[in-house]
Parts: sequence; structure tokens; C-alpha cells
Amino acid sequence: MARGKHRTANPARPRSSRVSFLHRAGGGNLRHLWENWTAVGRRLRTATQIALFLDFDGTLAPICPHPEEVEFAPSTRRVLRRLARHAGVKVFVISGRRMADVRRRVKVSHITFLGLHGWERGDGKPKETETYKFMQHLRREVEARLAGLEGIWVEDKFISFVVHYRRAPTAVRRGARTVLREFLVTEPFKVRLMEGKKVWEILPHEVKGKGAAVREILNKLNGRPLPIYVGDDTTDEAAFSALPRGITVRVGAPRRTQARYHLCDSDEVRQFLEKLEGEIS
Ligand SMILES: [Mg+2]
Repeated sequence: MARGKHRTANPARPRSSRVSFLHRAGGGNLRHLWENWTAVGRRLRTATQIALFLDFDGTLAPICPHPEEVEFAPSTRRVLRRLARHAGVKVFVISGRRMADVRRRVKVSHITFLGLHGWERGDGKPKETETYKFMQHLRREVEARLAGLEGIWVEDKFISFVVHYRRAPTAVRRGARTVLREFLVTEPFKVRLMEGKKVWEILPHEVKGKGAAVREILNKLNGRPLPIYVGDDTTDEAAFSALPRGITVRVGAPRRTQARYHLCDSDEVRQFLEKLEGEIS
């Protein structure tokens, strides 16, 4: 998507005045990021190192009805490429997708990619452990029970699986949720359900989520970098909570969140990356 096709927002004026009055789950008011840019910009300029964590779907790229249809704007890629090369910034893209999938879509070098909510890291192919075999078995059983339901489909994600219901009628969605609940009741010690945008993801407990992943990574980095986390979904809330002193930004319509700031959409995320670049150049 060319930059000219993006809606342009006045950085000084948030689109929704409601944002200012929404109470944050973590206390205080959720503010549009531009409203607080003076203070945020100062923190960016004075930081010796920045650890920039970015979610992919709904954050770097707009959500699409099918995950395969998602497109990444060239303008976002360009600014991400410049930030990834900046000596003062370490860029991480952390997604619920498989690591190879998100790496292929972003196509920028010098970025650390984390797949499956931070569980999938590094270059090695994940091993087909007992957990993997159990999850594959569970997925096949769930898939068989949900087969033929209108608008419902199951995505295999190796160690987890996702039930998509975006195109399902309400009654069908409720029926599918009941089926899932039956499975979860029989396997409470092995799996948990995570709610996402029009999806339910069933994960083994060893996939601890984005909060644990971000904490582990920061503990290994030298020099106490300033953490920034930008995400749009319930799966990102654990990461917001894990970074009480970081710059945490929730993307999307205002709602209760652990994040400190708010941006409206992935177009504003690109603007944020450009403003960040401007502050540290
Ligand atoms: Mg997302």
C-alpha cells in the first residue's frame, strides 16, 4: 500500500476524545499516544538502547478475515528496515503465527522473530515432542467434532491450534464453543484456551505467552534497554502487564487494557515508527 493511500492523522489530535476518559485496567487513564508525545519523545531521546516489541496482525498489518490474506504495507516495511539497522534499537516481532510465516511476511533482516506467542525462537526446527503429538491428536478430535459447521475452521499451528469463527452465525459459534469447553474440561491440566479476535486458540501450558517471552528476552539483554510494546489483542495484555515501566501501546478501539497508551490502527503504528525514528536520529 502506498503511503499516499493511508489516511493522514493530525499527530496533535487523537481521533476519539473518548480515549482520554477510558479507565485503564492497570490504573490511570488510557491516553492516545500523540497526546503524551512530549514526554514519550523525551524518554525515547534519552534512552541509550531501545527494545522494540511489535505484534504483527492488527498492529503492523491490518486484520483480514483470513490470516493468509493479510498484507504488509511497503511504507511500514521501509521504516522498520531503517529501525532494524539503527544501532540503538533492537527490533522484535512477536506473533501468534508460526515464526517462518511472520518472517516471510515482514521480510526485513536484523529483526528477531518470535512465533507462537514467543514459544518459537531461534533457527532450529521445533521438535516433535510428546506435547506436540498430544496437541496434534487433540486437534484432529476437535476438527472432527466441528466438521461441517458453517463459518468454522481449524488452523494447525504445530504445538497449538486455532478455531476461527469470524464467518460463523451466532448459533453455530455458540455450539462450537460448547464443543471446545467439553474438551477443555477433560484436559484442564494439559491445555488452556486463549481468546483472540474472532478466534479461540488451544495451547499447551508450556506455551506461556507473550508476557513471559518478553520478560525472558529483556533479562538476557545488556544495558537495561527501554522496552516498547505495541499490540492489539488479548494475547498482548500479558506483555503490557510485564512492562510496567515500558512504553506500552494498545492498537484498536478503546477498551480496558493494561497498556498505557493507545493508537487507532496499523496506519498510526507506522506513523509511530516514523516518529520514533525521528526522535532517535
Ligand atoms: Mg495482533
